[in-house]
Amino acid sequence: MSSEKIDRNTIRIRNPLAGPHRDRSGLRLSSGRGHLSVDRTSALERRNPLIHTATPSTVREVNRSIILNLIRRHQPISRAELSQRTGIFRSNISDIVDELVGQDLVVEKRGIAVGRGRVPTLLSLNGNSFRVLAVSVRPSETLVAAAGLTGKISKRVTFETPRNPREFVRKLLKTIAQFHEQHPGKASGLQEIGVGVPGLVKASAGQVLWIPALPEYSGFELAAEIEKRSGISTAADNDSNLAALAELWVDETADLSDFVVLVIGDVGVGAGIILNRELYRGHDTSFAAEFGHMTIDLAGAECSCGRRGCWELYVSDRATWQRYLPKSPTEFDPSRFQELLDLAHQGNQQALGALGETAKYLSVGISNIFLALNPEVIIVAGCIAKAWDLIQNTVVRSFSPPGLNVPIRTARPDLEQLYLRGAIRLALRKAFAKPKLGW
Ligand SMILES: [Zn+2]
Repeated sequence: MSSEKIDRNTIRIRNPLAGPHRDRSGLRLSSGRGHLSVDRTSALERRNPLIHTATPSTVREVNRSIILNLIRRHQPISRAELSQRTGIFRSNISDIVDELVGQDLVVEKRGIAVGRGRVPTLLSLNGNSFRVLAVSVRPSETLVAAAGLTGKISKRVTFETPRNPREFVRKLLKTIAQFHEQHPGKASGLQEIGVGVPGLVKASAGQVLWIPALPEYSGFELAAEIEKRSGISTAADNDSNLAALAELWVDETADLSDFVVLVIGDVGVGAGIILNRELYRGHDTSFAAEFGHMTIDLAGAECSCGRRGCWELYVSDRATWQRYLPKSPTEFDPSRFQELLDLAHQGNQQALGALGETAKYLSVGISNIFLALNPEVIIVAGCIAKAWDLIQNTVVRSFSPPGLNVPIRTARPDLEQLYLRGAIRLALRKAFAKPKLGW
């Protein structure tokens, strides 16, 4: 995965601020009375899309976003508790909650009275509202899942990933049509599609820049094409970015605001950076967090990016496998990596030695990332996380800056789940977004 691989003469990058694919601040929300359109674009913003000024309704919109997110994280929750947690007057909470209930985003349920007190009404997200489709493109198989506002998956299907992107869009549309036949009411209400891609994506335009495993997709305007053919608003992003977005929603990281997710893959390393609870996508949204291509050895082997000694050459599963079987005449087969992990857990010295060496290189890169960003935690995902018990000490201690404790943990769900959850999160972003302010 590399930006250098992009032929800039043949790949046209859409100006993210122009045309129908820029992030829209207008929000379509389902309501009991059909559809309610909320236009959050200020007059000044319409004049200059880079300037996001506050309007008289901004405070309410910010509070609405905070309350909806609090309901998501603490449901079921009462109005009184929302007021306690936020410090917002109870009457103002009720106004906003009434709006959310009116838009079918939140449902009310009677709670249980404590002592002689009145019975509280508890609020939860309406899992049947804001229906979205999550699409996780993998080199061999694509996963498609439907979910509602809670992010809970209601249906999941897979299809073989075509080599040609237009064929991919055709297959996806067929899947949407099948979903529509099986759930007529729900499918017709699909509000958003979120797509995760194993390569570089210009996220603001949803355009694939480079997928090493699917070279024909390079330059393809994936989100725009799906949106045009399906009529459903679509966004696409890099899969490691989506893994980071997914971790934002995992319960135990709910209070984290700055962290890095590292995906140690078969042959490469992906990463996503969350800063102040927002995904950092780089200034033009085409790439960021390409830690796998940090040079750690000037005289190292040549990398797919055209440079030498990149970190991913030392920590990918292939690198570990080649340490385990250095003289193997056959190409690395990712499906056999689990064998190495099993052998290591059984005490096989060759497997333990290979993992131990990889752990040292992991320590080098993770320490560099830690010093550059000072995140609250670095979360490691990928097959190697299954051997964390064997390598943790080496990773944490080998190259840690003296006196500093590098906080590292592994991702909870498996990678497939992480990518899919991230795509759901991407598709739900407009429902939970707060208005942009600043310039
Ligand atoms: Zn490289």
